[in-house]
Amino acid sequence: MFRGHDEFAPSAVTRNVHESETSRAARLVCVACRNPITTDDQRISMLGTHQHTFTNPHQITFHIGCFRDAPGCSYIGPDTDEFTWFPGHRWRVAVCAQCRAHLGWRFQPPEHRAFHGLILANLELEQSAR
Ligand SMILES: [Zn+2]
Repeated sequence: MFRGHDEFAPSAVTRNVHESETSRAARLVCVACRNPITTDDQRISMLGTHQHTFTNPHQITFHIGCFRDAPGCSYIGPDTDEFTWFPGHRWRVAVCAQCRAHLGWRFQPPEHRAFHGLILANLELEQSAR
């Protein structure tokens, strides 16, 4: 049974938001084009933590989060181990499959599944539809 929207008190709206956060994994989308990149439940820890801050040889600092799968990414170039941030891991550049914005890197360990290090500023939580 539905009641009119004008009867929704602020407290009821707040409760609905919390319920949607726990019931399914939120999607993380490209900030430039809103293409779905990965989901909240793909977050993993590498070297003991999900988030890492790295500086590349050009002195640009990136704040990244580690994700197992990121189906919204495309990849550029061959794997390389030059200046790798995770010891023993080869990497390649990951971009948005839709708009080609740079989203981060895919890291390939020698004997395990690859994971993604994605620039957190280039992703945002998709606003859940109501
Ligand atoms: Zn995009």
